[in-house]
Amino acid sequence: MKILVLNAGSSSQKSSLYQLPEDVDLYSQPPQPLWEGKIDWTLNQGLGTLEIEANEITLEIQLKSDDRPFGISEMLKTLIEGKTKVLNKLSEIDLVGHRVVHGGAKYDRATRITEEVKAEIARLIPLAPSHNPANLQGIEAIERLLGDIPQVAVFDTAFHNQMPDRAKIYPIPYDWFKKGIRRYGFHGISHKYCADRAAKLADRPSEFLKIITCHLGNGCSLAAIKDGKSINTTMGFTPLEGLMMGTRSGSIDPAILIYLMREHNFNADELDKMLNQDSGLKGISGLSNDMRSIREGISKGNARAKLAFDMYIHRLKASIGEMLASLGGLDILVFTAGIGENSAIVREKACQGFEFLGLKLDRDKNNAAPLDEDIAMPDSKVKIFVLHAEEDWAIARECWQLLPDKFE
Ligand code: ADP
Repeated sequence: MKILVLNAGSSSQKSSLYQLPEDVDLYSQPPQPLWEGKIDWTLNQGLGTLEIEANEITLEIQLKSDDRPFGISEMLKTLIEGKTKVLNKLSEIDLVGHRVVHGGAKYDRATRITEEVKAEIARLIPLAPSHNPANLQGIEAIERLLGDIPQVAVFDTAFHNQMPDRAKIYPIPYDWFKKGIRRYGFHGISHKYCADRAAKLADRPSEFLKIITCHLGNGCSLAAIKDGKSINTTMGFTPLEGLMMGTRSGSIDPAILIYLMREHNFNADELDKMLNQDSGLKGISGLSNDMRSIREGISKGNARAKLAFDMYIHRLKASIGEMLASLGGLDILVFTAGIGENSAIVREKACQGFEFLGLKLDRDKNNAAPLDEDIAMPDSKVKIFVLHAEEDWAIARECWQLLPDKFE
C-alpha cells in the first residue's frame, strides 16, 4: 500500500510517500520514505524553493509563485517525472494522510475526510488561522489531482481530546467552555508516536506505563501519558500556552495583557506578535530563537543568553513536575524534536533534581549523540529515551491503523 503524507506548515509544505508491506510493524524502526518533498516559501520573497529527495538524489527546483495548490501540484509531478520518479502514475497512490493542526472538540482520532470533516476544519479556522486554511488547500489540491482517493485527517489535537475535564477546562466562567474556550493541546501526533515507540523500545505494553514526552522544537510542549492516553499537556487553547519556546512566551500572567492594553495602548495584533514572535529565547536573549545560538552566546559570556537558557530550563522542569504530579509516578521520560534530540545540555539540566525518583542519567550516553536509545543508567528506575521525531511516519501509521480493509 502506498500512502502519501501532506504536512502543511504556515510557510512550508512537507510531503512523504511511504510504501508499506502487508506485514509492516508499526512500532519498530520507521521505514524510509520512497520519496520526500519540501517547499519553503520563506527563502525567496513571493517564490518557493522545492527540494525533493528520492532515488538517492536531491533535487532543488525554484517555484515561480507562493501559491500552495500550485506548489503541491509541482511537487507531486516529481513523483512521476524526471530523476526523482518513483511512480508511473499518481493513481498508484492508495491513500493521502494530512496533518491537520486543529480538530477542535469533535475529533479524538484520525478521521476519513468527507465534506462534513472539511466543513469542520473550515469552522475551526479562527482557532488555527495560519494552519487550518493550508490544510484545506492541501485537501482540495489532492481532490483536483487525484479525484476521490481516500483522504485522512490526522489531527494534532486528537490525542489530547480525552484528557479529563479537570485538565481540559479553564477556571473562567463555565459557559466559555461550552463555547469552545478550553485546553486542546497540540503536538499530539508526536506525543502519541513517542509514547508508542518508547513502550516498544522498553519492551513493555504502553497500557501499563507512565510516560512524560518532551517535544522540544521551535514549539515546545510536554504530555503526561498514562496507560497509552494523554491525561495532561502543557499547550492549551492555542500552541502559545505552557513552556517557554523559541519565539513564544509560553504561559504568563494574563493580567499583563490587560495592563498592556490599558496602559500602553496595545491592540490584539501587537499582543499576538509580541507573544508569538518576539518572546521566548529570542525575546529574552535578544540574540536568536535557536538553542544553538543561545549556547554559543553563553560560551562567549553573553549574560542575556545565559538568562534565556536558565529560564527555559526552569520552566521546563516546573512543567515536568506538573506532568509528574498528574501521573503520580514515572516509568519513561522521552526527549524529541530539534532541541530534545540534539541538545545534551538541555536533557542533562532537565533531569537534574528528579533523582529522587530513582532517575539516573548516564552522562556518557547522553553526550554521545544518542538516537532512539535509552540514555539512563542500567539501574535507573526511570528510562530516558531520545527519540527522533517522525511526524510524517506517525501520520502514515495513523492512516494505516484506520483502514481495516487495507488490501482489499
Ligand atoms: P519545528 O518545531 O519547527 O519542527 P524542530 O523540531 O526542527 O522544529 O526544532 C528546531 C529547533 O531545534 C531549532 O530552532 C534549534 O533551537 C533546535 N536545534 C536544532 N539542532 C540543534 C542542536 N544541534 N543543538 C541544539 N538545538 C538544536
